[in-house]
Amino acid sequence: MPSPTPATRPVLWIATTNRGKTREFKLLLGARWRVKDLHSFPQLPEIRETGKTFRDNASLKALALSRALPGRLILADDSGLVVPALGGRPGVRSARFSGPQATPEKNRAKLLRLMRRVTGLGRKAFFQAALVLALNGRVLAIQYGRVWGQITTEERGVGGFGYDSIFQPRGLKQTFGELSAATKKRISHRAAALCAMKTSLSRNKLISPAKKHI
Ligand code: IMP
Repeated sequence: MPSPTPATRPVLWIATTNRGKTREFKLLLGARWRVKDLHSFPQLPEIRETGKTFRDNASLKALALSRALPGRLILADDSGLVVPALGGRPGVRSARFSGPQATPEKNRAKLLRLMRRVTGLGRKAFFQAALVLALNGRVLAIQYGRVWGQITTEERGVGGFGYDSIFQPRGLKQTFGELSAATKKRISHRAAALCAMKTSLSRNKLISPAKKHI
């Protein structure tokens, strides 16, 4: 099937003002979609992530925005790092792990401190992403992506963000902070979730330009 022309390409609104995230989604979704983000709607209120799961938080964002922006197809994500040996922490609190004044540096330092005495398989961890697609206050699809690895004993690499420099994906010798951005993008939890979402998008025929709401 030929790709839709630029004018007829459906628009997917990413529930973020993070340009990096928007670029990543653009790259992963390919030419079939026009990907836009919330920079066009600076007046929208910030949605607090009060859910207990990644899915809850992504749904909160997707539903609130799809109600505020009727007729627009919204894709929201939430993600974080899960360490089973720490009962699933930092989990949904990944960004705020070290408290109200959290920074990525303090978050990583806290995690390494908590893992000080944990060895071997106990250092296993995964990044998890949940993606929710919504339209007019209704959830159309939910997809997940996960990448397993282990928490290193010290920081390695300066690339990426968040917990990248202390997470070594399974089967590789480098941390996410040492890998190239292109490699990380290919194997990341967000890429896996988006790959599954692409299947949902085509299965639901949401890519049909005939559908006016997109
Ligand atoms: P959010 O999904 O953008 O809200 O991300 C939540 C938090 O999870 C981030 O602030 C990071 O601390 C962590 N996180 C999520 N994805 C990644 C990743 O790919 N690398 C490193 N940290 C991540």
